[in-house]
Amino acid sequence: MDLADSAQQEMEHHEALQIANLKRPDVVPTDECVECGNEISEGRKKAIKTNLCIGCAEMRELRSRNYATRR
Ligand SMILES: [Zn+2]
Repeated sequence: MDLADSAQQEMEHHEALQIANLKRPDVVPTDECVECGNEISEGRKKAIKTNLCIGCAEMRELRSRNYATRR
């Protein structure tokens, strides 16, 4: 592998991460759900930055809605 190419890729990757962090500072995307350990589908990872599987994301969404209505 060419060193310059790899350095360039590193830079682009770093920039992409920084942009992602600016948009969603609280989410570090992972391959596996941080709640249940299930693998997060490729399509879901591409669609949004997430560290939750669809099931846990929905659970969290429901819980945050419940908290919101109680307030
Ligand atoms: Zn999960």
